[in-house]
Amino acid sequence: MHEAMIAQSLLSAITEEAAKHNAKPVSAKISCGKLYAINDESLCFAFEAIAKGTLCEGVRLEIEHKPIQGQCKNCNQTFDVELSNPRCPKCGSEDFQLLPDAPLVLEEIEFQSE
Ligand SMILES: [Zn+2]
Repeated sequence: MHEAMIAQSLLSAITEEAAKHNAKPVSAKISCGKLYAINDESLCFAFEAIAKGTLCEGVRLEIEHKPIQGQCKNCNQTFDVELSNPRCPKCGSEDFQLLPDAPLVLEEIEFQSE
């Protein structure tokens, strides 16, 4: 399962950071592109399951879905594509190309402050 693999890599990344900071992580913020087929609930569930009994047990995951980016073929502007009104906000052109979807990124980890 897709989410299980992501959960696993998140767990090792968070564990590594926690070891560096010598602190217990409480939450982690991740982001990914809108087209990234990820189910928040399944990911949190998978993460919870493998985090049990580790340093990451109880860590809250926050998942941000980034909008799809487009690049205007007329004026070269890059912008967030609004699916309800897909056009360049700068020149109004509807001739643009979709940019590759944003990758999954571990944005930040919050540690317990003591
Ligand atoms: Zn434009």
